[in-house]
Amino acid sequence: MSFKCPQCSTNKTLRIVTSIELASDARSDEITLQIVYCSSCKFEALAVYEESRRYSLSCDAVDHYCYPAALNTIQATRALIHHCPDPKDAGCQCASHVELNQRDSSGRWITPGFENGMERYRLEL
Ligand SMILES: [Zn+2]
Ligand SMILES: [Zn+2]
Repeated sequence: MSFKCPQCSTNKTLRIVTSIELASDARSDEITLQIVYCSSCKFEALAVYEESRRYSLSCDAVDHYCYPAALNTIQATRALIHHCPDPKDAGCQCASHVELNQRDSSGRWITPGFENGMERYRLEL
């Protein structure tokens, strides 16, 4: 799967290089954290795929976006995914999953390296 790059606007150059399935939270049934990379302009970012099946069909149930996390956050995330024995298992209890599955006080997943006001770019095929 490849997407339009939000930085250079080239079609189909942004690819998911690695990903990890995370536990469901107060909002979403499926959460996947991904690292995306553009082969054209070398833009690298974290991306999130979230799917919720709890609300009515009128709601936007799928969210897929990337955000320009700091380089050290991207590198740390890559190392965490690399050290997980089974990144496709959302129920994995390894140290990497514990680190990436953190929740805030309302039970919402804490998006790694995402800060208030940071730009989010919807991923488009
Ligand atoms: Zn690009
Ligand atoms: Zn794991």
